[in-house]
This record gives sequence, structure tokens and C-alpha cells, in this order.
Amino acid sequence: MNKKFKFIMALAATAFLVPTIAYASLPANIDEYLAQFYSTEESEEYTEEHTEEHTEEHDEEHDEDHFSYDIQEDWTFTSGIMQSPIDITTYDAITNNSPTQLLLNYSTTVDDILDTGHAVQVALTGTATLMNREFELLQLHFHSPSEHTIDGEYFDFEAHFVHQAQNGRLAVVGVLFKVGEENVELGEILSRFSNDELSNSDFELNLLNLFPDDQSYYHYTGSLTTPPLTENVEWYVLENSLELSQQQLDEFKLYYDHNSRDIQGLYGRVILYTED
Ligand SMILES: [Zn+2]
Repeated sequence: MNKKFKFIMALAATAFLVPTIAYASLPANIDEYLAQFYSTEESEEYTEEHTEEHTEEHDEEHDEDHFSYDIQEDWTFTSGIMQSPIDITTYDAITNNSPTQLLLNYSTTVDDILDTGHAVQVALTGTATLMNREFELLQLHFHSPSEHTIDGEYFDFEAHFVHQAQNGRLAVVGVLFKVGEENVELGEILSRFSNDELSNSDFELNLLNLFPDDQSYYHYTGSLTTPPLTENVEWYVLENSLELSQQQLDEFKLYYDHNSRDIQGLYGRVILYTED
């Protein structure tokens, strides 16, 4: 990452107050509900630490590096049941009467593309203002089929833009894709991923072309969708989907076919809808 940019980011990060969200126009019970997630206290740390008991059948230190999508019932939970992904039932979503648009200020420079063993991951820089709080963009990765469903409907592909606030809180913006027209930006990423020499070199990419024009979104609080499945992750799943070609989907599936976690229960959580 550019050192100067990092320094500026650090300065900017010290200036913001976390997290102050105004839900003034939402019902009182929603305020109470949200207060439990948007505490101003220090959030729990998102470290890679795990308890020893979960590694008994493995020699490896970190379980999450060795999980399989075929045996998800064996995944280790390090937190509670407020998990992701979920089915977004649009009928039950509560419209946010004090809407805040997603403000995405992403760098066009891609640092590198790597194979994490469970996803194609793209290292990125930039910032996002989500519900009036500033987050730093860390990386982008993909799942197929989608992890989130909308009214029970799966999509062919889902992009996850992972962000982190200064206090460690994570926020993921999810974009759903269906098979249709080719997506040029995805093509750039996939072609470089399959080429060892190119995958380590910087290149330019307009990330905003991986977003629909209308950025209406569904918001809820859930978890990471891979072990350690840490909770208190903010989710922003865009209502409108994009397209990728069948050929691009097939190319992705050469590396990862079905790297998607099963749908998790909502357990009374509220889904907020914000119209762009
Ligand atoms: Zn993901």
C-alpha cells in the first residue's frame, strides 16, 4: 500500500468518532434493537485467536484455514447465533426513514490478487462512509453461488467488499450477480488471477463498475461467513444486481465451485432498507 496514503488514512481515522448513528425517525424499539449492535464501547477484537479445544483433531493451529464447504456443520463458532449469510425477505425489511447513501471512495489501483484457499481475493485501498462512519477498504473477494438470497432466490455470484473501522469493526458491502453480459472489471481480475506473473503486479481498475448505478441496500448485523464466523459484522447488500457472462462464471468455478455458506437463521434481527 502507498505509505503516504496510509499515513493520511491514519490521520483521518483519528479524527472520526465511532459510532454515532442517527436513527431518529425509526420506531423506538428499532433504536433499542440497534443500540445493542452500535455500542460506542470498544468493539470486540477481530483477531485470529482461537481456543485450543477446537484444534484437537487438527495439527494446524488455525481451523479457518482448513475448512470445507462440504462439512459446514463442523465449522467452529467463536461467537453466537447472529450469523451470515441470511435470506433477505424484502416484505419484512423496514425502510430507513433517515437514509444514508453508501459513499465509496475507492482507489483504482489494485495491489495484488491472491488465492486464499477458499476465495479469489483482491487487495485494495480506499475508504467508505457507511451510516455516517468511516471505514477503510481492505479487500474484495467472491463467492459462487451467492451467499445472500433475496426472497429465497439465489444469485450466480456475489462480490464482498470488506472494510474495517479504526476500532476494528468490520463492514461488508455485498453485490449480487446473475449470468448475462460480460463484466469487464471481473474479466480483468479473473485473467490476472490465472496468471502468476500478472497477479502480483499493480494494475488499474474502476471498482465502481462493480456496483449498480442504483445503490439501494439492505442492512443488517451478522457475521463473517467463513470461520471464525466472528459476529458484529455490518452487512450492506445491494438490492440491484449486476451481470457476468457464463464464461466468466465458468472460469471462476475452475478455482472455486460452491464456496458459499448455508443460509443462517434471522433470530429476530431487523433488516433495514435504504433507497438510493
Ligand atoms: Zn465473503
